[in-house]
Amino acid sequence: MKNPSNFPKTANKKTLNALYRFKFGYRCLSEITNNLPDTCQHCDRDTHAPLAHYLTESRQTAPYINRNLGTAENIIRQMDWTALATLALQFPPPR
Ligand SMILES: [Zn+2]
Repeated sequence: MKNPSNFPKTANKKTLNALYRFKFGYRCLSEITNNLPDTCQHCDRDTHAPLAHYLTESRQTAPYINRNLGTAENIIRQMDWTALATLALQFPPPR
């Protein structure tokens, strides 16, 4: 199953980049370079899974995400891309 909505046509390049990264899933720099735990830039909590923390745990992103959707993967599949763009604009996802 893939996300049925469309990327917002007005998203800037940085936001589109964030959406593509969400879409394909990604390992963060701290995971690739073996520098975990990483500290969330939005809530200052340490995490061993930066993207999953950002989507499923961070209190800063909570108002933008329906946490009842479950895993990070499910959230990405079921949230509207325009809503994800708004989220990424407000709180840039981990690199
Ligand atoms: Zn956080």
